[in-house]
Amino acid sequence: MATANSIPLELRPLGNTGLKLSCVGFGASPLGNVFGPVSESDAIATVRQAFRLGINFFDTSPYYGGTLSEKVLGITLKALEVPRNEYIVATKCGRYIDGFDFSAERVTRSIDESLERLQLDYVDILQCHDIEFGSLDQIVNETIPALLKLKEAGKIRFIGITGLPLEIFTYVLDRVPPRTVDVVLSYCHYGVNDSTLENLLPYLKSKGVGVISASPLAMGLLTENGPPEWHPASPELKAACKAAAAHCKEKGRNISKLAMQYSLLNKDISTILVGMNSIQQVNENVAAAVELATIGKDEKTLSEIDDILKPVKNETWPSGIQQS
Ligand code: NAD
Repeated sequence: MATANSIPLELRPLGNTGLKLSCVGFGASPLGNVFGPVSESDAIATVRQAFRLGINFFDTSPYYGGTLSEKVLGITLKALEVPRNEYIVATKCGRYIDGFDFSAERVTRSIDESLERLQLDYVDILQCHDIEFGSLDQIVNETIPALLKLKEAGKIRFIGITGLPLEIFTYVLDRVPPRTVDVVLSYCHYGVNDSTLENLLPYLKSKGVGVISASPLAMGLLTENGPPEWHPASPELKAACKAAAAHCKEKGRNISKLAMQYSLLNKDISTILVGMNSIQQVNENVAAAVELATIGKDEKTLSEIDDILKPVKNETWPSGIQQS
C-alpha cells in the first residue's frame, strides 16, 4: 500500500509564472484559529511535516485570525531553516478583520505589514482578497496598477485575485492588460458537490493565468466532523454532505480523502489548497494524492457520493456586493 512519502508529491506549473506548485497546497487559515485553536508548537510541527512530504506552497492572508495566520506561518517557515527559494508563499490584501479596502494606499501599506509578520523579504504571490466585496472597476483601475508597482519594487513576484463568484474573474481579466494578473484563486467550486470552475478553465488557460483551487473539503462540509458554525451553506447542502460522509463511513471510506482525490484529478488546476492544522491531516491529504497517483480513484464510491449529492449539485451561496 502507498504511504504518504513513498513517491514525491506531483509538481504542477502555475500558468505562465514559471512556478511549480505541489499539487496539494497548504492553506494556512486554520493557523489563524479559524477552525478552532491551534498551538504554536502544533503549527510548527504541521508545517514541518507538510514541507517534509513535498508540499511547497503555503497560502495565508492578513484577514485569517486577524493577522494571526500570517504571524504563525512566518514563525513556522522560519523554523524550517531551509533556503527561501524552496517554498512558495502567497498572501493577500484588501480584506481585513475590520473590513475591505482595495485602495492603492492601503494595499501598498498592507504588503509591508504582511512581510513583517511573515518575516520575509518578498512574497511569491500577492492576491486581492475576495474582490466581489469591492468595486471591480477599482480593482482594475487602481488596485492592480498599485500591485504592479510592488512587483517592480521586488516585494511580490506575481499578482492574483480571489473570490467566490466565478464571473468576477472574467470581469477583471477582460479589462486588464495581458500578463498583469498572473493567478486566480477560486474556492468551493471544484469539488464533489460543486465543480463549476471547470467551465472557466479553458478561458483561464487561454489567458495563461495559473489556477489555484481552494477548499476541496468545502470548508469542512466534506469531513466526518462537519462544518464550523459560521459555514454559509444552506441546511439542504449541509444535510446532503453529512449524508455523503455517513455513507462513506459506513463503507469504511473517508469522505475527505475521496473529495481530495476528486479535486486533484484535473491537471489544469495547479494546486488544491486545503486547510490543515495537524500532522495527521497533512499525512492524510498527501496520502490521498499519492494513492491517487499510484492506485487510481475509487470510481464506485465517487459515483455513489455523486448520487447522494445530485439534488444539491453546484449549489452555492451569495457572496459580496452587487456590482453595478
Ligand atoms: P477546506 O475545504 O480546505 O477545509 C478545511 C477544514 O478541513 C479544516 O477544518 C481542516 O482542519 C479540515 N481538514 C483538512 N484535512 C482534513 C482531513 N484529511 N480530514 C478531515 N478534516 C480535514 O477549507 P479552507 O481551509 O477554507 O480552504 C483551504 C485554504 O484555501 C484556506 O486555508 C485558505 O488558505 C484558502 N482559501 C482562500 C479563500 C479566498 O481567498 N477567498 C477562500 C477559501 C479558502
